[in-house]
Formats: sequence, structure tokens, C-alpha cells
Amino acid sequence: MTFKLANRLAGLQPSDIRHMTRECERLGGINLGQGLGDLAAPALVRETAIQAIQNGDNTYTQSEGIVPLRKAIADKVRQDNNLEVDFATEIVVTNGTTGAFAATLAAFLNPGDGILILEPYYGYHLNTILLNSLEPQFLTLAAPEFNLVEADLRNAIRANTKAIIVCTPSNPSGKMFSVEELLIIDRIAEEFDLLVITDEIYEHITYDDRRHVSPASIGNLKKRTVSIMGFSKTFSITGWRLGYAVADAPLAKAINLVNDLLYVCAPAPLQFGTAAGLTGDREFFHSLKHEYQRKRDIICEGLERAGLQPLLPQGAYYVLADISNLGYTSAKAAALAVLEKTGVASIPGSAFFHSAAGENYLRFCFAKDDATLKTAVDRLQLLRQ
Ligand code: PLP
Repeated sequence: MTFKLANRLAGLQPSDIRHMTRECERLGGINLGQGLGDLAAPALVRETAIQAIQNGDNTYTQSEGIVPLRKAIADKVRQDNNLEVDFATEIVVTNGTTGAFAATLAAFLNPGDGILILEPYYGYHLNTILLNSLEPQFLTLAAPEFNLVEADLRNAIRANTKAIIVCTPSNPSGKMFSVEELLIIDRIAEEFDLLVITDEIYEHITYDDRRHVSPASIGNLKKRTVSIMGFSKTFSITGWRLGYAVADAPLAKAINLVNDLLYVCAPAPLQFGTAAGLTGDREFFHSLKHEYQRKRDIICEGLERAGLQPLLPQGAYYVLADISNLGYTSAKAAALAVLEKTGVASIPGSAFFHSAAGENYLRFCFAKDDATLKTAVDRLQLLRQ
């Protein structure tokens, strides 16, 4: 038999994120590249999951997720996202946020359909678009503010455009979309009948008293929006693979069908752990913001001192640093040179940009314990020599 890859894999490469992690491991460096989120998961979340395993909750669940978790999600989205949803028909628990995203694309889009992706973007979104034989249609948001301009969005629409992705707070820029910007999306989505797919995985990691606004809570967006959220970052459980989609019942039903076909269900005992986390002490969510804001300030101060210019993020746990005046030939060359010289891994900006603008940036992840972060910042000062 001749072994041939499927056409849908054409152009897909393992990401630069994986490459930098491997290089970092080889050199024994500090990995501020990949968003591992390797801080301690809350004890309540861990212990409830362990208890669920001991109780025998180890079999398949309903594909849409266990009832206590969906009830906890319905309460949470009412409180935090200003969304009224029915736990029975409008929530699908998935294998990570990425699982919800993949199921949504498969449920509503056909090969060749166009999907708008705002640059800089999360690489997984682009790769999942390509894997589904969809056409990515890029709209660049200009640094340092990454503001959305209505005329630009309108101009980016093509005859085959069917959907738009809104990642807020954004990876890699940390940009949070304002109500005014979401109203622009509402107007354009209405005019061109677009599906809106959000990625709100960093909704609880926001800075300087900014409040996360869920796109579906604005204007008329709810009826055409799949709101995708997750637990990986909030509870530092990236390896658990748990997220969820919230959408009006007919949409949720279609997502759940794909979810069932692709994954059967999300990991059973871990669903109990996250349900406990959601219904636990709300103080956890406040301290999360403060903890990450402190870490953001440590890394931004350290980058600035090292001659890399940070773009202060509004949310999420990454910072883009402008390296355009440091004389590197590319962002990839810069990331490797910084790793060689300082032992600190970052991700080349080109991993998040379709345009050449990505060559101007490195992305650093600051979801690290303070001691590691401070050591990384000290090592980065070697760049001044
Ligand atoms: N969405 C964004 C914007 C991310 O940055 C990440 C991880 O880095 C994910 C989704 C992955 O989410 P999950 O672990 O829930 O699949």
C-alpha cells in the first residue's frame, strides 16, 4: 500500500510552540514559551476528582456532560457572563476548549467556507480551520492597542465568509474586546449572517479592574454565538482536557452530536472536580486576578529592563515583547538566540501572525511560580551584555 497523507493535512506543521518546548528541554532552560499553566490546581478541584475516581465515577457520561457540572456552568454563566441558559439543552461539556472549537467548526461549516480570524491569533484556531478544509480569512489588528475598526472588518468579509472567531482575552496579545467593539461585531454579523465563535478561556484572568464581557451578552449576538469557555487556565489543569460550549438549544444540539461522534464524552471523574471548583468559594476568582497581575508586572518590568519592549496585556497570561530594534533576522532566530544566551524559552511572534508583523515579537508566558519567574527575569538581563 502506498502511504499518503490526507489532503487536509497539507500545510499543517507541528507548531513552533512544541519546537521551542523541545529546544528548551534539550538545553535545560526555563520554559516561558508554552502556556502550560503549571501552577498548583486548587485542592478542592483535585480532591473532588480523586474522590470521584474512588467512588467509581469512571465510566462514560452523557456526551453533553454530567448534570451537576452543567448546572454549575449554568449558574456561573448567569453570574459571570450575563447569559441565561438552560443547563439541560444549552450546554455541552467538551474535551477542552479546543474540543468545543473543533466540534463547532465540524457542526456548522463546510469545506471551502471562509472564517474570519483576527491577527494576532491563537495558532490552534488556524490549524483547526485548516484541518477542516476551511478558508482562513485574516484581519490584522494593529499593535499596540489591537483595536477593531468597523470598516476593516466589513472589508475583510468575502462572499464565502460564514463565521468569525472572537478570542477575548486574547492569546497572544491579552487584548480584551470592549463593548463598542463587540457592537461592531454584532452589526457586521447581523448584516452578513455570520456565526460568531468565541474563545473565552482566559475570562477570569483580567487586569487593572477590567471586566470580561462575553460577546453573546451584547446586542443581538446571543442567537448566533457559540460561547466557548474552559477550565484549563482558571484551575491550572491544562492536562485534564475539559471545556464547554454554550449556545441556543438547536446549536448546542448539533455541537453535542459532533462531540459524541468525536469524543463520546469528557473525562468523567474530572467533570466532578471542575463542578466543585465552579461552586466553591468565589474568592478564588478574585485572588486569581491579583496573583496573575503581580506576575504580569514582574515579567513586564524584567523585559523592559532587558531591552525587550513589552506590550502590557489587559488579560490572559502572555506578553508580547517588541524585539524589532534588536537586529535579529527573524522572530524564530530571536527566540533561539534568547534561549541560547539566557536559558529562557519564548515563542516567536510569527506563530501568531499571518502577516510579517509577527517577526517583530516574542511571546512570553508568565503562568509560573514566582521563584521561577524571578529567575527567568534575572537571566533575561544577560541580553544587555
Ligand atoms: N484557547 C486559547 C486562546 C488558548 O490559549 C489555549 C491554550 O493555550 C486553549 C484554547 C486550549 O484550551 P484547552 O486546554 O481548554 O483545550
